[in-house]
Amino acid sequence: MTEMTGSTFLESINQMVDRAAQVLDLDPAISEAIKECNSVLQVSFPVQLRSGVENFTGWRAVHSTHRLPAKGGIRYAPNVDQKEVEALSALMTYKCAIVSVPFGGAKGGLRIDIRNYSREDMQLITRRFARDLANHGFLDPATNVPAPDVGTGEREMAWFADTYKHLHPEDVNYIACVTGKPVKHGGIQGRTEATGRGVQYALREFFRHPEEVARAGMSGRLAGKRIIIQGLGNVGYHAAKFLSEEDGALITAVLGRDGLVFNEDGLDIEELYQYKTKHGSIRGFPGGETDDDSEAGLERPCDILIPAALEGVIHEENAPRIQAKLIAEAANGPITFEADCNLRGRGVPILPDAYCNAGGVVVSYFEWIRNLHHIRFGRMERRFDEDKGRSIVAALEEVTGAPLPEKVRDELIHGANELDLVHSGLDDAMRQAFQNMVETRDSHPEIEDYRVAAYVIALKKLASAYLDIGVY
Ligand code: NAD
Repeated sequence: MTEMTGSTFLESINQMVDRAAQVLDLDPAISEAIKECNSVLQVSFPVQLRSGVENFTGWRAVHSTHRLPAKGGIRYAPNVDQKEVEALSALMTYKCAIVSVPFGGAKGGLRIDIRNYSREDMQLITRRFARDLANHGFLDPATNVPAPDVGTGEREMAWFADTYKHLHPEDVNYIACVTGKPVKHGGIQGRTEATGRGVQYALREFFRHPEEVARAGMSGRLAGKRIIIQGLGNVGYHAAKFLSEEDGALITAVLGRDGLVFNEDGLDIEELYQYKTKHGSIRGFPGGETDDDSEAGLERPCDILIPAALEGVIHEENAPRIQAKLIAEAANGPITFEADCNLRGRGVPILPDAYCNAGGVVVSYFEWIRNLHHIRFGRMERRFDEDKGRSIVAALEEVTGAPLPEKVRDELIHGANELDLVHSGLDDAMRQAFQNMVETRDSHPEIEDYRVAAYVIALKKLASAYLDIGVY
């Protein structure tokens, strides 16, 4: 793919922060303090694999500790480096502030190409990495809590939690040292798909505001809107699946690592995903046409473009050719600062990453609380709520003298389970944050877009954490 031009990922984030700091007329010393990464750990360690001993290098950056624990995913990728991890940790700080999750920001990365290792190798490597992080205080339920990101999932999180438990069996909250675990090992329902679900909720909220939809040069509802999505991994797959199956949007193209598939009538995402799982690529999918130039797919006409793969894909060079009416940043940092200026200048609204992909950390927050409470949400009240619902049904049927329609009856006697509560909490977080961005933009004449509004919200909270409590 094309080399990212212009600002690096970290520079892009800092320039976006500077733009918001100017709006707030923030003391430069405070904004510098906010931007700086608090601490970074680099670890290098050997692992005895079946093929021989191999050395690995990884990082964990803690950007802010104004709230604890510091929270953020762990990425396994061949090109991870310290600067990328620092950039991602900074983004976590702003993201948590924007969606009102009371955590600091952190991120981790291990330089590895996971395609070259077996499950057994991955377990040995992950457990060794987890041990090093825990021994240096960078894995701990109270202070530093990782989650999945690119290249990691619930399997790795289970190994992290188990390694920490063996190091600290006396810690009654050991299971909260990491989120995104399998449900049967202390995870929460709905976490795996939470980021994609959050993208769906963000877009639903956008389309509940006709004046915002009109600003993007569109009208009507999400149903029938043509969407192009880059990346069919955890985030991209779930976002595309929910938007097409539940909201009636048309996914007209999916851009993969080695080509794109398109179908103007809309792709069947579940079938495409199954095809990709079987063949290792989306190329040749019979439900659409294949094209070699995946990157050029970003420039195809559509209503909504969802980059959901990696950073820096929309840059100075290709930004002027982007034709989407709205961009929803499901990936972290997919648009460089220069590209952002171009798109802003052309009036293309962007739902910024620090808002749009926050679903993962919102549900991680619920998982962490569930772990500290040592009880699943809804366990105590579900049957009680169902009994209350039954009493209401009985009373209504007695008053009206007629049975209620089955659907109404079922809805009234349904006691919320954990997944219902997770969806409700996530939806609330995404709606509230969107409304805050719109209100903030509209109350500052110098703010034109959601990204500056989002950073203004975050900076206000972060600055007050410094100024109210004091710098020490
Ligand atoms: P993933 O590893 O599950 O999926 C990434 C996908 O992108 C893969 O399908 C890969 O084949 C594809 N891809 C890689 N290079 C590509 C290219 N050049 N063109 C097109 N596709 C390409 O990762 P994920 O968890 O889905 O994360 C994707 C993005 O979302 C990252 O930026 C990540 O930081 C961000 N994010 C993830 C989460 C989460 O909960 N997993 C939360 C917030 C943000």
